[in-house]
Amino acid sequence: MNTLHQATIHELHDRLKKREITSREITESVFERIDQVEEKVRAFVTQTRETAIKQSIAADQRIQRGEISLLTGIPIAIKDLLCTKGIRTTCSSKILDNFIPPYDATVIKKLKEEDAVLIGKTNLDEFAMGSSTENSCFGVTRNPWDLGRVPGGSSGGSAACVSADECIAALGSDTGGSIRQPAAFCGIVGLKPTYGAVSRYGLVAFASSLDQIGPMTKDVEDCALLFNIISGYDPSDSTSIPLDRTDYRKSLVADVRGITIGIPREYFVEGIDPQVENSVQANIRLLEKLGAVCKEVSLPHTEYAVSVYYLIAPAEASSNLARYDGVKYGYRCKDSENLREMYRITRKQGFGAEVKRRIMLGTYALSAGYYDAYYKKASQVRTLIGKDFEEAFKECHVLITPTTPTPAFQIGEKVNDPLGMYLSDIFTIPVNLAGLPGISLPGGFNKDGLPIGIQIIGKHFEEERLLQVAYTLEKNTDHHQKKPNLL
Ligand code: GLN
Repeated sequence: MNTLHQATIHELHDRLKKREITSREITESVFERIDQVEEKVRAFVTQTRETAIKQSIAADQRIQRGEISLLTGIPIAIKDLLCTKGIRTTCSSKILDNFIPPYDATVIKKLKEEDAVLIGKTNLDEFAMGSSTENSCFGVTRNPWDLGRVPGGSSGGSAACVSADECIAALGSDTGGSIRQPAAFCGIVGLKPTYGAVSRYGLVAFASSLDQIGPMTKDVEDCALLFNIISGYDPSDSTSIPLDRTDYRKSLVADVRGITIGIPREYFVEGIDPQVENSVQANIRLLEKLGAVCKEVSLPHTEYAVSVYYLIAPAEASSNLARYDGVKYGYRCKDSENLREMYRITRKQGFGAEVKRRIMLGTYALSAGYYDAYYKKASQVRTLIGKDFEEAFKECHVLITPTTPTPAFQIGEKVNDPLGMYLSDIFTIPVNLAGLPGISLPGGFNKDGLPIGIQIIGKHFEEERLLQVAYTLEKNTDHHQKKPNLL
């Protein structure tokens, strides 16, 4: 059988360039793989086979003309909350299940300009609210390493399909951990860029002061490459930052000599799975052996991060989701007597339980009389969390932490325990609150063969440094080469 679907972007790019293979062959290999395993994994909401084959033919023609850029002809999967012109974009919510955007998100436009092949839209927790992909109106995606477990969330479909080789790479979004946590659970690489590094134009908004789009890939090199393409200033997103373009492939140097790595004391506390802790410690020792200086640092306000996030994110969500009223987009209820009823019933029927919970939490936190006690207080503590990082970064270049306190949990294990679910993002949330870049990469496996993720956090717009440390770890380990057995 053709095994092109197993390869990375950079491997395929080299072979396409030498004209040893065609994009059509890669794309067909990916769809064969989907036919083989998708029934078990259920990573996709929508597959776009016909247009994908057409795009692969167009990419091959371009390559024939001697024009090839980094993503030309490479099959990519897209989290289903990024707007794709003419292709249904559901956010895994009933309220948008018939929504076909009339425009492309900026990141999609960039992929198309490169002649990438878009193979489909991947499953997520409804409106990206969740950590397990169980909050999807299309049903749960399964973790390719153990089909009884969750792939993480909310970008669980993207993580699972990269891990199962149902695509070459994918895009996800991260508001409190939604790229890094599923990347950790599925044994792949996921980058949450600095807030403002990637345009959010065309990303369906969850919590606008936290959301970022990022790459989910099979290795660090692919991550740098895909980040190269999607990052950059965009006048259509007022939070996008105009910076000189960097070629992030420059940071692919397997050397950490001269780099100081901070280990935040507050991230190694009771409750963290001992196998996760051991694996992070092993990676820290490896970095030391390779010449990095590792030292303990403190982020004293860490314990407030989850509470702060669950005030700020729902507050912003309650405002962002006000637009789904049955008038402008998507689902509208059938029988209602008047406009007010129509709003009420549409939203009652269209949103799932977790989304409703967030809207209520957020509306409450913003209500007159409670605003100061909740939203304003949370915003103040958010500033303190940001300052903790600033202080820590006076002593080190990057931080290293576990991505999650435990490996992937069982499907159903936390559905009736929202607080338990919220805590699975305890190490990723502070990074979003501070707007910093964070990457998760494979750091080992537990005794049941489940992947464990390592998180590296950098200073604002210092993705280069973060990629360099991640690349060094990857070059000195083989965790990323292991594949789940799905057949
Ligand atoms: N799991 C977190 C939440 O439920 C983060 C989600 C995300 O990053 N989109 O809000």
